[in-house]
Formats: sequence, C-alpha cells, structure tokens
Amino acid sequence: MKLPIDQLNQWPTPYYLYDTELLGHTLSAVTEAAAFPGFHVHYAVKANTNRAILKIIAESGLGADTVSGGEIRAALQAGFPADKIMFAGVGKTDEEIRLALGSGVGCINVESREELMVIEQIASDMGVVAPVAIRVNPEIDAHTHHYITTGLAENKFGVAMSMLDTVVDHIVASQWLTLRGLHFHIGSQIETMRPFEILCERILKLQKELNARGVSMPLINVGGGLGVDYDDPMGHPIPDFKAYFDTFHRHLPLQPGQQLHFELGRAIVAQCGALVSRVLYVKQGVEKKFVILDAGMTELIRPALYQAHHSIVNITSQSPDRELYTIVGPICESADCFAEDTALPLTRRGDLVALLSAGAYGEVMSSNYNARPTVSTHLI
Ligand SMILES: *Cc1c(COP(=O)(O)O)cnc(C)c1O
Repeated sequence: MKLPIDQLNQWPTPYYLYDTELLGHTLSAVTEAAAFPGFHVHYAVKANTNRAILKIIAESGLGADTVSGGEIRAALQAGFPADKIMFAGVGKTDEEIRLALGSGVGCINVESREELMVIEQIASDMGVVAPVAIRVNPEIDAHTHHYITTGLAENKFGVAMSMLDTVVDHIVASQWLTLRGLHFHIGSQIETMRPFEILCERILKLQKELNARGVSMPLINVGGGLGVDYDDPMGHPIPDFKAYFDTFHRHLPLQPGQQLHFELGRAIVAQCGALVSRVLYVKQGVEKKFVILDAGMTELIRPALYQAHHSIVNITSQSPDRELYTIVGPICESADCFAEDTALPLTRRGDLVALLSAGAYGEVMSSNYNARPTVSTHLI
C-alpha cells in the first residue's frame, strides 16, 4: 500500500490509513477471479465496518455477510441490497432476528436447533417465511490458531454433522421456514488450498446424502478464511484469488441453478489498511531496546489476542543502519507488545511508523481501554 510521508505527517497520530486504490484493485481481482457461473461473493462485514470502506465494497457489487443487527444496519446504509445480505452468528437476539426478517435479508444462517425454533416462532408471528441455511461443522482442522479455528466437531459454531438430519427435517416440515442450503466456515487465515479441497469433498458427500433423502439445496455457502501475506504485504498486496476460486470451481461442481456463496473478510480488506503511529520514546532497557509507540493494543489488538504478526516499517528514518527493537504500545498490559527483537532502520523519537496489513480486524476491534480516544481514520 502507499505510504506518502508528507501526507501522513500532517495528521495527528495514531490513525488508521486506508489505501482506496489498493482496495479497488483487490475488488477487481476478486470479481475477475470469481467470474464463474453461480459464484457469488459476499464481504464479511465484521472484518472492517468503516463506512467509506463499506461503500466502496457495496459499489463493487459484492454482497454482505453480517453477524449482528448493527452490521445489518451498516450494510443497508452503505448500499448493499437487502437480498444480498446474509445474517449469521451463534447468539442472535429476538430483536436482531426481527430486523433481519423485516428488512428482507437473503438468508439467515442458523447455528443450532434451539435458534431455529426461535426463528420459526418469530417468522410465524410476523407472518413471513424465513429463508434459512444451516451452518454445519464439517469437522476439518484448518491448522490455524485455535481461537480462529471454527470447523471442529465440538464447537460453539454450527450444527454437528450427527444432528443435521433432525434440523433439516424440521425446516422441511415447517410452513414458516424455507431451506436455502448449507453454510460452512472452517477458519481464518488459511494459507494453502488443501483445507478448501477437503471442504469441497465433505460438501459433495453431504449433498449426496441429503439429495438421496429428497432434500435439495439451491445454495451452498463455503464461508471465508482465505489468508493474506502478513510477512511480505508490500510484495503480495493482493491474495491469490485465482487459486482460491479455481479450487472451488474444480472440486465442487454445481448442480443446475445452484449458487455457491463465499464470505471473504480478511482477504479483501487486510492489505489496504495500516495503523500509523509515532515513536514516543526509544528506551534502552537492560539488554533490549524498546520502541514505545503512541498506538497500542487499544488500536490494534491482534498481536495481543492471537499472537499475530504485523510487518512494521519506519516511514521517516532513512538510516542505512539497522537495529533490533522490541516494539510496544503505551497501554498498562504486558501483552501490549507488537513485535519482539525486530530489525528496523535506526529509530528516533518522533519517527512515523506503520503497522501493515491492519485493514482487517484492526479498527473494528479497537477499544477505549485506559480512557483512550476512539482511533481516527484517513483515506488516501
Ligand atoms: C469471520 C467469518 C468470515 C470471514 O472470515 P475471513 O477469515 O475474514 O475471511 C466468514 N464467514 C463467517 C461465518 C465468519 O464468521
């Protein structure tokens, strides 16, 4: 992404910077790579709900995948058509279900039998038929961090394979529910195509069993999870969408009229965002040198929460000499550390640094802990 120093210097730090040109290129790459019949791409709104970003994505023609009433409203305001909005989440409130049904979202992804009963009751109260897909746990270990692996058998997300038949039968028998299909999501930051290939195999097997029982599925939703290059964001600013969509095209032949839905979050917005921060102090410790930034886990919690790695660049320093620094924030928590012993050009108080690949799960997860102000954002 672009980091024009003169422009970046004029804004008070810390702030999120979004490169709208890179976002545009990324969206074109998605649209081009997904141009197979029946393929529909939705943006997982939870990755970044910044209004300007949502608008650009809505204009590109993608649908939206939402996980709360607030996200449904944000998606509608940004211009996503209601029938292209999907609503998922393990703990939907009655009010959120009413909002989803009232605004005519395309599909509600149900995560349990208990929730299905509530959706059915609310649909019958409102006199509408609820379009639902069942989120299934395909029991695939996507080899990502355990907090972001979601497809295993015992899990708060989705319906276990062993319970699927009962849930399907209930939907088919109900006058207030219509079965759109199945929904999967096996994890996040998946860096090889193998887990997606296995997912396709599982889906085909399940589909065959359901078809044999006379149940048809107009829609299959394979979730998101495509990873991005956190180590070399400048070298690989756009994920390999072609390999990703080709994998599904090759391994998941669609039935006539069937739709295949994707819900990509990180892959669409991660690389177009950076957290820009100023160096407050370079502190000599007993053995280490600490760079203390004016941004911390309140602005970007991923390193503290998932031990995530963000590439860090010093935008100001032109020094040819490099040194090892431990880069930390100002928050009163030991976990408030962005990187240990990382090499940067000679760094001084006042330098501007950027934490790259911060467009996904960055600004949306920011907080006001330590009574910090809400982080600001700028677009270039
Ligand atoms: C979070 C989530 C996504 C998006 O995941 P990414 O890894 O950001 O692509 C898609 N679908 C569901 C159900 C999710 O919970």
